[in-house]
Amino acid sequence: MLGNASESSIHSSHAVSEIQLGSISKRTMDVYVPDHYRVLGVAVAADGAAIKDAYRKLSRVYHPDRHGGSSRATSCFQYISSANTELSDPVKRLNYDRTLLLRDPLRMVDDPRADRALDVLDLVVKRLKRRPDALPGAVRGRDLRVRHTVDFALAAVGGVALVRVNYDSVCGTCLGQGSTQPERNPVCHVCQGRGSVKHGLRRQPQECGFCGGRGAVLLIYCQTCTGRGIAAISRVIGVQVPARTQSGAVLRARGVGEQPTLGVQPGDLVVEIAVAPHPVLTAEGHDLVVRLPITWLQALTGGSVQVPTLEGLERLTLPAELAGHREIRVANRGLPMADGKRGALRVVVVVDCPLQLSRGQIATIEDWQATVAKASWPLVAEYEANLLALSEPVLPSELAPVDAMRSP
Ligand SMILES: [Zn+2]
Ligand SMILES: [Zn+2]
Repeated sequence: MLGNASESSIHSSHAVSEIQLGSISKRTMDVYVPDHYRVLGVAVAADGAAIKDAYRKLSRVYHPDRHGGSSRATSCFQYISSANTELSDPVKRLNYDRTLLLRDPLRMVDDPRADRALDVLDLVVKRLKRRPDALPGAVRGRDLRVRHTVDFALAAVGGVALVRVNYDSVCGTCLGQGSTQPERNPVCHVCQGRGSVKHGLRRQPQECGFCGGRGAVLLIYCQTCTGRGIAAISRVIGVQVPARTQSGAVLRARGVGEQPTLGVQPGDLVVEIAVAPHPVLTAEGHDLVVRLPITWLQALTGGSVQVPTLEGLERLTLPAELAGHREIRVANRGLPMADGKRGALRVVVVVDCPLQLSRGQIATIEDWQATVAKASWPLVAEYEANLLALSEPVLPSELAPVDAMRSP
């Protein structure tokens, strides 16, 4: 086990920040082991004064207060502080040197470049070319999956549904570079701008944790994405909903999903549609059905009523004397069919009965009903006629003889 408590806390925070970045790198498997001498930019043989001097100089450059809380500057500052804590205490330094010797015996041979590392830092050199982040295997961004409820009429006749989506994608301000002025950021003195450091006996290249593998330290960072190169995006997208869409249908808008870096094909937006029920209309095949309650007087005289259609409310003229279970068909107001025709709107008329009438009102109706002949109530008259037929006794003489029925 390497290092101590402060070192391992750096390891874990580094690992977490990589996961938050949504890095698709296999390198996230490697844990960055900071080399305290490289972090401070001093030779392995440096004396206490040189370490103190390097720490003072670097902590001025990377102090988080100077960089508006930039996460990269904060992380760098933590590395520098941790390195100083380890190397400025003689006992801790001895222990650290032992672990370094075990980990990397060649490292203890003095590195001639180390003395120049601080100069590299100060130079703020050439314009940096960012290493391509698109790694083999990451050929396409992830799809976004959302559930969206559309109203009944839109699902029936089709149209555009406005779908809000929130996702992470390459930052449009810095085009994923993390900085709009990459040339002003210092070259990383730990990895000399390479983005990786060789590590261990086998000299395995490992992503430089000091600069996050960029080769430069993002001190001047993009305000939109705070240097992550990836920004939270919230958009409203118009999704074409075809006619006759039903709940559970899945629609796909190509190229609207996540795009981790430029040059990688964005994922798709996948919308699962839920259709909200209509308050009064129901679908039966290609027909729409509405139950229309009317009063006694409307049933008697007919007249104009309002009925809902997919296009909105429409006027319908009812005929007079709407007794019984009447259904009125309005052609071409139903659901669209594949051949372009439309089903019908079926208006099922229901005669309502008033409740909570006063004694006086009921007496008036009784007086009025006494004046109406029984035959004027068509359903009642029909029902009573049927009952009468049932109640008439069947005489034995009217039954056919059983034998006669059997004979050919
Ligand atoms: Zn940005
Ligand atoms: Zn670096």
